[in-house]
Formats: sequence, C-alpha cells, structure tokens
Amino acid sequence: MENAATQNSSRNDLIILGIESTAHTFGVGIVSSSKPFILADIRKRYTPEKGGILPREVAQYFSTVASDAIHEAFTVSGLSPRDLNAVAVALGPGMGPALRVGATVARALSSHLKIPLIAVNHAIAHIEIARFLTGLKDPIILYVSGGNTTVTAYNHGAYRVFGETLDIALGNLQDTFAREVGLAPPYIRNGRHVIDHCADKGSFLEDLPYVVKGQDVSFSGLLTAAIRKYEKSPKLLPDICYTLREIAYSSVVEVTERGLAHLGKKQVIVTGGVAASDFLNEKIEVMAKSHNASFIRIPKKYAGDNGVMIALTGLLMYRHGIGFMEPSKAFIKQRWRLDKVPVPWYPDTLG
Ligand code: MG
Repeated sequence: MENAATQNSSRNDLIILGIESTAHTFGVGIVSSSKPFILADIRKRYTPEKGGILPREVAQYFSTVASDAIHEAFTVSGLSPRDLNAVAVALGPGMGPALRVGATVARALSSHLKIPLIAVNHAIAHIEIARFLTGLKDPIILYVSGGNTTVTAYNHGAYRVFGETLDIALGNLQDTFAREVGLAPPYIRNGRHVIDHCADKGSFLEDLPYVVKGQDVSFSGLLTAAIRKYEKSPKLLPDICYTLREIAYSSVVEVTERGLAHLGKKQVIVTGGVAASDFLNEKIEVMAKSHNASFIRIPKKYAGDNGVMIALTGLLMYRHGIGFMEPSKAFIKQRWRLDKVPVPWYPDTLG
C-alpha cells in the first residue's frame, strides 16, 4: 500500500472522511487536523411519511443518496479523493440494514483509494464531537438520542457506563408516544419536539411512573401508562405531555447528577439527538451549577447524527494507530457497546 503521507504530499495535515449511517441520517463529513477543522458536513435525512422508521426503508433511501453525499462532500471541501488519509465509518451500534450501507461505501472507498479503513463506535463519536466543540475535556456525559440513553465518563482507558436505560431510549419514548397519540410525524416543529409544543399547554403533573433503579432508568412503563391515560381521557393530553417530559428528563438528570457527584467530575456535557432540547439543557444547567460544575451546550446542529463526528473520532484514532480494519473484515456491530472501545487519546481532542 502506498504511504498515506506521501499521497497527501501537498499538505502535512491529516484529512479524514467519515461516514455515518446508524439510524435516520446518512452523513458524510471531512475533517482536517488543522484549522479549519470541519471541511465538509453533508447530511441526508430519512423521514417517513407516517409511522416509525423501518430499517429496510432507511437502507433503501441510503443507497440512493450515498453517492451524491460523497460527491457533495468533495465539492464543498474542494478536496479530491487522493487528499484523504483514511476513511472512518460508524460500524455500530445501530440498525443493521442502515449500517450495512455505510460500511459498504466505506469498504469501497478504502479499497479503491488504498487508504486505511477505521471502525468508529457511533456513541464514542457523539462524545468526541461534544468534547471538541465545548472544550470540556474531562466531563461526565449524558448521551441521549432515539436509540441511546447512557451516562458515561472516562476512567482507566475507556468510557465507563454509570447508568443507562433498561429498556427503550428517551428519544424513542417521546417519538413513540407522539406517534401513538397522533402528534407525529413529523416529530420536530420549528426546531422543537412535538412533545414540547404539547407540554406548553399543560401545567398539571399527572400520576405517571418515575422509574430509577440504582443508576439506571426505565421508560417502557411510563410509555404504556401515558398512552393508557390518554386513551381514557384524551382531553388531558397537554398535561400528559407535560408530565411525561418532566419525568423522563428529571430521571436522566438525577442519574447524571449522581454520577457527577460520585466521580468528582467538574464538567458536564449532553450529546445525542435529544441534546437539542432546550428543556433538557436548562435542567442540566441548574444541576451543574448546584455542583459548581461547568456546563456548555453543544450547538444544536451537532447534537444529532452527522458524518463530522465520525471523521473527527477517526482522526483521533488514526493519530493513535488504532481501529484500522481490513475492508474485507469490516463487519457491522449492531450492539457495539461504547465501554468496549479503548480511548488512548483521552483527554486530547483536536486543536
Ligand atoms: Mg446518534
């Protein structure tokens, strides 16, 4: 294999292309090791007209947009494929059929360009982009999205899990409830979740289950109880939205707070799709203040899935010589846990 450094002879910074395809977004990002760090950020988001996201339909959509997304990333960055040092791809966790599209594109690019393929864990990438953009290098992390609810922090070589959901993720709770009661799709209106709009009209806390077991949370009982209550008294919907949101967000903040106090960390970050929620950020801010811990919001744009975070993590891994895979062996890992990934670059980030 030709040396990546000689291929990239015109500049001595590292250039990594990252591919994200774990859920609803096919993202292609290009990141450089020197300023400006973000050279391209292309996203193709799948939105079903009704119902939830079916993995097979997402995969079909991804296959039709993948090649355009790659082309656009090169056009926007003004780079050519020969400028790349490596291709990074999120191999998990996520939906199998969706992951396979990203993996296939990454394998093809890596083999064709004869550059390394780097396997990135999607959850780690959400953490790394948040550490990079906030500058909070040693935080406790609340990672909340449609598929994940995890409280984690670095300890002895890896991110350790200090609490997680025992069943469904917080984002899934909101989306499923909204769908079941006819508020969605679409799930987001004017930049806010439809549950937030619905909760604006409520003010009374209904009797719904708040479940924290040790350091873990659980939302499936809350979901069922909320739907039952709605079916019995549809006119209570605003109060049910108000209560569901209050309970769900309070429980993750509680678990994050205990992790913060236990570990003695002095920084808090929130990442993942649900990190776009003002309501969640306000709650976390109050909690962080009461512990004299720093909290900086991640920009909304980078809360959800994107290719930049995969490229960024790929770059950190490349520098430390880890995660390289033979394209023929780069299989997806649908249930790849973040605590299984070594993080030798910590607490460094770009810049
Ligand atoms: Mg995600």
